[in-house]
Amino acid sequence: MKVKVVTNILEANDRLAAENQKIFDELGVFVINLMSGPGAGKTSVLESTIKEVNGKIKIGVIEGDIAGDDDARRIESLNIPVVQINTGGACHLDANMIRVVMNELPLKDIDLLFIENVGNLVCPAEFNVGEDIKVMLLSIAEGHDKPLKYPLMFQTSSALILNKIDLLPYTNADIQKIKKDALSLNPGLKIFEVSCKTGEGVSEWVKWLYSIVNNKP
Ligand code: MG
Ligand code: ZN
Repeated sequence: MKVKVVTNILEANDRLAAENQKIFDELGVFVINLMSGPGAGKTSVLESTIKEVNGKIKIGVIEGDIAGDDDARRIESLNIPVVQINTGGACHLDANMIRVVMNELPLKDIDLLFIENVGNLVCPAEFNVGEDIKVMLLSIAEGHDKPLKYPLMFQTSSALILNKIDLLPYTNADIQKIKKDALSLNPGLKIFEVSCKTGEGVSEWVKWLYSIVNNKP
């Protein structure tokens, strides 16, 4: 019985996500569902991305957090349209939450919408919100065991940003193992090694963003 209930919730969510995606498509908005565990650096990667893009494509952001608006304030200070969702305890965003807030953004003027999910390596991967693709972050400090422990995140993402690579000399994290295990779960996964602190890798990531946003059918 429990399994049936969960299945129905996911089916209802998927239907709503498909409707969201249709709205985004009609307005020409490319949508990325950005996922990671807490503290991997999603907001920092967004800040670095926004600075590197420097207005060449128009970015908007939906911030998802259990509580607070710290991340939205950071994005707003860069003059980027942003809306904050507080889930009030829920550990992931779902399609209905996006539906409720999407019209608070000037979607007609946005080329690329980032939806920063709640920090959690588990259920954000199960709930589509209307995105074109999912992108996940893993910081080097989280350790190299994560791909095999949280496979769905890696399997459902189109790209993986390995963040905080400036910390590599100070950890025992085996970056080759992370890449090997992630690619064994998802051979098509695009992997970027990034440090928001030094700026390393940000331009490669942004170049890839341009290519996918401009090739949206
Ligand atoms: Mg954040
Ligand atoms: Zn959850």
